Amino acid sequence: MTFCVLGANCSVYDPMQRLAGVTRASPICEGCTNRCEKQLHLLKYDYLDLSQLIPANPAPSEAKIARPKPASRPPMDMNIYVLRGQIAYTLFTAADALAQFLGDTGPGWRDMREGYAVTVNVSYLHYRVPDLARMPRTERAWDLQTDVVNALSGPEVMVLFSLLHRRARKACGLDAKLITVPGYCPKCNVPSLRRADDNPGKISCAGCRHAMSEQDYLAAQRVVFTRSGCET
Ligand SMILES: [Zn+2]
Ligand SMILES: [Zn+2]
Repeated sequence: MTFCVLGANCSVYDPMQRLAGVTRASPICEGCTNRCEKQLHLLKYDYLDLSQLIPANPAPSEAKIARPKPASRPPMDMNIYVLRGQIAYTLFTAADALAQFLGDTGPGWRDMREGYAVTVNVSYLHYRVPDLARMPRTERAWDLQTDVVNALSGPEVMVLFSLLHRRARKACGLDAKLITVPGYCPKCNVPSLRRADDNPGKISCAGCRHAMSEQDYLAAQRVVFTRSGCET
């Protein structure tokens, strides 16, 4: 019996005990295997959602021959475009590296549109998450934008999937903005308290996920102030 190699990135990581989930045969625990399978599917939808945010080229109008003014086109957010490309590229690179590790031909890409390749790569990876967990550090240019070759292991690629999924959610506005709240978490004693923009009555700790109501938060802070003798 060992601990999940994802460490602090493990899906059941306990920040109080600093322990990741336990596992027997696989380098990653069962919770992380399930999470990776789920996230691969979600990345497929992230790709589609991000595509919706990229404005389409306006159809050429026959009524007007005049050239459109440069300002008449909706501005394109390059970050969305780059993020969408990075998702497709990471899935392709991961499937390619895994195919090399397993010694098979991979999902069989030929001339394929990017969106279709995303689906094909997700299907390939989804059934091979336990194999991906065993994949040793593999040299690839993992970052589309820098072209720098570095070596990532299978579990490190899984962390990259999580990161891309989180960035996509944020870009699509699905994650509420988090506001930092002053004070220390009463449970783990770390200044990591946050409040979601859409639910100001609930305060939670980013470290140990301890959640409390606004009253409990205020009461906890008062105790701290009284202890340090600076209550007004
Ligand atoms: Zn784990
Ligand atoms: Zn905490």
